[in-house]
Amino acid sequence: MVQKEQEWISIPMTVDVPYRFAAGQYLTKYLVEMRDNGKIFAVKCPRCKRVQLPPRIVCAECHVKNEEWVELAQEGTLVAFTIMYLPLTDPTTGKPHEPPFVYGSVRLDGATSVLDHFVNVEPDMEKVWVGMRMRLVLRPKEQRTGDLSDILYYEPLPGQVRPK
Ligand SMILES: [Zn+2]
Repeated sequence: MVQKEQEWISIPMTVDVPYRFAAGQYLTKYLVEMRDNGKIFAVKCPRCKRVQLPPRIVCAECHVKNEEWVELAQEGTLVAFTIMYLPLTDPTTGKPHEPPFVYGSVRLDGATSVLDHFVNVEPDMEKVWVGMRMRLVLRPKEQRTGDLSDILYYEPLPGQVRPK
């Protein structure tokens, strides 16, 4: 006897999950400097000298306390990227970022680690490449809130030509 395939029911729902993240001492300094002064601060390990962004209280390599704050340049190099074809939900708004778009890892000049964010460039492999020079774009000061959305995106420095 042949059974009829069962039809699954889909139930659309929106789940509202309020969440409060305690940033702690180091992330708070980083977020406040960015919000109030438009500056990007990282921490430097006293032992291995790596400059970590976002700042962490302990070096991820040496496990010693980071105590030296370093202001970083707001220009850097794209070290990896992806072209996203699926929507990405913004955790601070719950709204999707409509694809396609470019998301990338940039090593700001003076940093050892990278900071990932949107890249404001056409999602076309001919228009974006590893090694591209980028600058960080913050929201206008009066619109900053003290979270990661104060960074709007990276954008390419003008006048660059894709290497052959
Ligand atoms: Zn270290």
